[in-house]
Amino acid sequence: MRAASPAANLKVVLLGEGRVGKTSLLLRFAKDEFSDTQQATIQASFLSKKVLVDAETSVALSIWDTAGQERFHSLGPIYYRDADAALLVYDVTDKDSFDRVKSWVKELKKMAGRNIVLAIAGNKIDLDRQEELDLTEQTEYAESIGASHFTTSAKLNKGIDAVFQDLAKRALVSK
Ligand code: GDP
Ligand code: MG
Repeated sequence: MRAASPAANLKVVLLGEGRVGKTSLLLRFAKDEFSDTQQATIQASFLSKKVLVDAETSVALSIWDTAGQERFHSLGPIYYRDADAALLVYDVTDKDSFDRVKSWVKELKKMAGRNIVLAIAGNKIDLDRQEELDLTEQTEYAESIGASHFTTSAKLNKGIDAVFQDLAKRALVSK
């Protein structure tokens, strides 16, 4: 059976502090690659991948990644322009990186359209001893801004398909 052409092309932007694993999540999702020595500055500006949102519907995602400019907090309007969804990433072993998510959300509210769909990913779950991990604050914050919350590991390929599928599904509905 021939796959139907995508129901939509959606733009997703990655946001979050440097080193939290944005590029790694993208490379794992789009190419099933992972490197322990991922270099901040060598990567494409975006990668595309189709996801199935249900048995008959696929969506093409163009996922935009920074070239490390997030360190200077100046991604510029082109990065946000016409974004349908944003994935905010933090590192579950670095509380500061979660606090920074909140400022990225403020930035998004200024720079992106009102109905942009949001998800938050706590990445590097493989580094944490699960029984000690308490992400109540993170999930409550996500809920308060209407975002989904996921935990992921780019290293072990955990949770990543679920994140992008969720974004694709919700962004398609709100389009
Ligand atoms: P970015 O600056 O947000 O794009 O982060 P990178 O993707 O460049 O990743 C920063 C570092 O964290 C690299 O050394 C990656 O190999 C590592 N990293 C990324 N994701 C994971 C993960 O899920 N688990 C572990 N253990 N390391 C990760
Ligand atoms: Mg990067």
